[in-house]
Amino acid sequence: MSATAAAFTPSFTVVAHRKPLSTSSAFNCVARLSNNSPSSATPPPSLIRNRPVFAAPTPIITPTWRGDMGESYEEAIAGLKKLLRFVPPNKGFREGELAPVAAAKIDQITAELQTPGSKSGFDPVERIKTGFAKFKTEKYATNPALYGELAKGQSPKFMVFACSDSRVCPSHVLDFQPGEAFVVRNVANIVPPFNKEKYAGVGSAVEYAVLHLKVEQIVVIGHSRCGGIKGLMTFPDKGPHTTDFIEDWVKVCLPAKSKVVAEHSGTSVDDQCVYCEKEAVNVSLAHLLTYPFVVDGLVKKTLALKGGHYDFVNGTFELWGLDFGLSPPTSA
Ligand SMILES: [Zn+2]
Repeated sequence: MSATAAAFTPSFTVVAHRKPLSTSSAFNCVARLSNNSPSSATPPPSLIRNRPVFAAPTPIITPTWRGDMGESYEEAIAGLKKLLRFVPPNKGFREGELAPVAAAKIDQITAELQTPGSKSGFDPVERIKTGFAKFKTEKYATNPALYGELAKGQSPKFMVFACSDSRVCPSHVLDFQPGEAFVVRNVANIVPPFNKEKYAGVGSAVEYAVLHLKVEQIVVIGHSRCGGIKGLMTFPDKGPHTTDFIEDWVKVCLPAKSKVVAEHSGTSVDDQCVYCEKEAVNVSLAHLLTYPFVVDGLVKKTLALKGGHYDFVNGTFELWGLDFGLSPPTSA
């Protein structure tokens, strides 16, 4: 192997029983494809029909607002302006007054629509069609046994929490095959604590994975250069929020920030972010202990929790378990 090749060989590290966080901190566009309801007899969208995608009729997607927006280009722009005109009161504009930002956006969209093709030449529909065609011929059609089994049901061994970041798809990085991992992706790969009102989305996924799919492992995977974690480390802890959702969401992992700031105050923000990427995983693992069915699985030893960190800068993956004191120590 050449020196250059060796430099890019990914490494994989398993760290057993990383020390958990203190208990005080630890516990605590879709465009609609049709107007029809899911129960109607209308066939599924063309792209998921069992036939080559290049045979799909066009238009593939008919947004429901099309009728309201009008058929012509001018009517569509007028409809868009109508939709954008209602600016929330807290933005400082009177109802009916078009916000400058929205007006500028309309001008940009208008300019792009008047140019044949997009300015980058990128055709999203074509990209999706060719992507599915490649999958269909190279994977789906060549493995009928697997897809035949998956048609009957799923029995994944893993539940995985990963960041929404486009660079860290766990199926790609860990070579999970269809049916192997039940995946939740969100900003900064966060598991919030059990809360039926605030976090029903994540809660329902954990409940379904543990109680119905009976996954054996829950793995929370952080990653290098995570924008969500950088936000957590740099957003002010007090004062008004500047985002609608992001600050509230990443601050679910504030205990991780507090620990990193306390222990690594002399290091750069970038270095602190690296520490926080891993500590936030530990906070999420601790939050999993607020779900009664997760604790039940741990006690019965039908379920295990693991933390991970994927570093795409250096091509490494670190994996660790947490010692929750539920089993006797393996060494003195
Ligand atoms: Zn991220």
